[in-house]
Amino acid sequence: MAQESLPAASAADRAEALAIFKELVEINTTDTPQGNVTAATGAMQKRFLDAGFPPEDVHLMGPDARKQNLVVRFRAEGAADKKPVLFLCHMDVVEALRSDWSTDPFQFIEKDGYFYGRGTQDMKDSDAALVATFLRLHREGYKPKRDLILALTADEEGGKFNGAEWLVREHRELVDAAYVINPDSGGVELDHGRPVIAEVEATEKVYSDFEITATNRGGHSSLPRPDNAIYELTAALDKLAAYTFPFELNGVTRTYFAHLSERETGQTAPDMRDILATPPDPAAAARLSAEPSFNAKFRTTCVATRLIAGHANNALPQTAQAIVNCRILPGHSPEEIRQDLIRVFGDAKLTVKYVSDSDVVTDTAPERKAIVPPPPDPGVFDPLTRLSEAIWPGIPVTPYMENGASDSIYFAQAGIPCYGYSAIALERDDVRAHGRDERLPIDSYWKSLDFWYAFAKALGGE
Ligand SMILES: [Zn+2]
Repeated sequence: MAQESLPAASAADRAEALAIFKELVEINTTDTPQGNVTAATGAMQKRFLDAGFPPEDVHLMGPDARKQNLVVRFRAEGAADKKPVLFLCHMDVVEALRSDWSTDPFQFIEKDGYFYGRGTQDMKDSDAALVATFLRLHREGYKPKRDLILALTADEEGGKFNGAEWLVREHRELVDAAYVINPDSGGVELDHGRPVIAEVEATEKVYSDFEITATNRGGHSSLPRPDNAIYELTAALDKLAAYTFPFELNGVTRTYFAHLSERETGQTAPDMRDILATPPDPAAAARLSAEPSFNAKFRTTCVATRLIAGHANNALPQTAQAIVNCRILPGHSPEEIRQDLIRVFGDAKLTVKYVSDSDVVTDTAPERKAIVPPPPDPGVFDPLTRLSEAIWPGIPVTPYMENGASDSIYFAQAGIPCYGYSAIALERDDVRAHGRDERLPIDSYWKSLDFWYAFAKALGGE
């Protein structure tokens, strides 16, 4: 591919993008008494209004005064030829304690080629880069052919007022889009400074916890009986340990394994090709399953993560309880998996209940399933691949399925395809999101800024 060079941001554009990044990092947006998302979204609202965005296209809204979301619409000129593109960015960050850090986590510090501060990786870097991109495009008089929407939202990391979920539910008209670009996942992996791969999240598994309980009338431990809550629970967990959910691929994981098979060596390469055949080769699937990261890509997984049982050393246990954590493939609902667990345990004396994100335990689980993803949209992947080649030449751009969950899930469940790409290049072993001394290579920030500018224009139409 002929290498294209991107127009780098001017010194003034960079200065603005830096000021926004610093401003956002220095506003504490944790879900704590000190944190306030509205302080950050409100500051961005002011920037958009000051820049001349019409007030009717800049919405600050949410179910809680401290958790307001900002939705900005960069309107198409004339009649739009396509549905909008939504850029989805969470503004909250995970708590950071001054005593754990080498520097103040809520001070934006430039040191040794890095920007330090809470949110420099997750994800005030992308929040700032996208705000700066919208402002720059507006300043330059750019006229998109479709609406570009930026949503800056609350409570992705925790808290009761998830902005993405609320906006989809309460204001679908403001965030409805052909697809969502979510910079909260994906990105460029560096190995000792050398870019190796660009990963784009194109779907994700659904996170669900289940509470498994065995109860018993108990009694004195000197008089044991065959019925015993601990034995019943552990027998059920043994069955789970021996069980594997069915092998299943979707449009995204098929593309992922097809890409990966070209770079793998040994038995793995033909095995990856053989699982893509119709019908898939079960022996190949079994061999690949030995690698947890492959296994998790083609199965729902459920694993026991916590146990609590008994009340005294000398008493028969009256209750034994386990938490089983499941990562569910798109196309299946938590309730469907709950029924699978009941079938696997095969013990009517056990209860299998659902535990929500906010720790509410219910007898049944949600029926909603994430939509099975279509194959990755060329309207997104073609420009993304072209721009990736211009900035990080020679590396593959690979769609993948994330085993965790981001705010994309709310849009995916509403039938809107989501792509996770941060355009941030990070060393493999320097992922500090949620951790101490979170930092971002300065160069990665400037490259992401160039990427977003060109990508927004490519999606919006030139
Ligand atoms: Zn995040």
